Amino acid sequence: MTMTNNNDVVLGGGLPLGERVGQLVEAWIRDGRGRDHLVTGKAFFVVYSWYLRHWAEHDPMWGEFVAVSYDFLGGDHGWETMLRERAVCHTCDDTYRLENIGVCTGCMRYSCYACDPHGSCAGEIV
Ligand SMILES: [Zn+2]
Ligand SMILES: [Zn+2]
Repeated sequence: MTMTNNNDVVLGGGLPLGERVGQLVEAWIRDGRGRDHLVTGKAFFVVYSWYLRHWAEHDPMWGEFVAVSYDFLGGDHGWETMLRERAVCHTCDDTYRLENIGVCTGCMRYSCYACDPHGSCAGEIV
């Protein structure tokens, strides 16, 4: 019943982020949409930020997965609390609130918007 495995799928890199999320959504539906497939913490932050940029490209099931994960986080209150957390940009070492920093979907490191994009990474900053 741990969520760590699914967060690791998101944070582990390797496949493009969209393919990683696609695998999670498929597994979530296959297993009856249980909570143990939802993403939390940084993994949720990345998936949600990325989804907001690309929602139009994806199956409605993805939106449902994100919405249920959002509720599990605590809804609007949980999201606002998360946005006030702090993270350090991997490139410039400055500290930002999550609302002012992104994550590189290539290397899954935090990156502020002044430093983006990572030239060496195939991902985007979301
Ligand atoms: Zn930076
Ligand atoms: Zn990167």
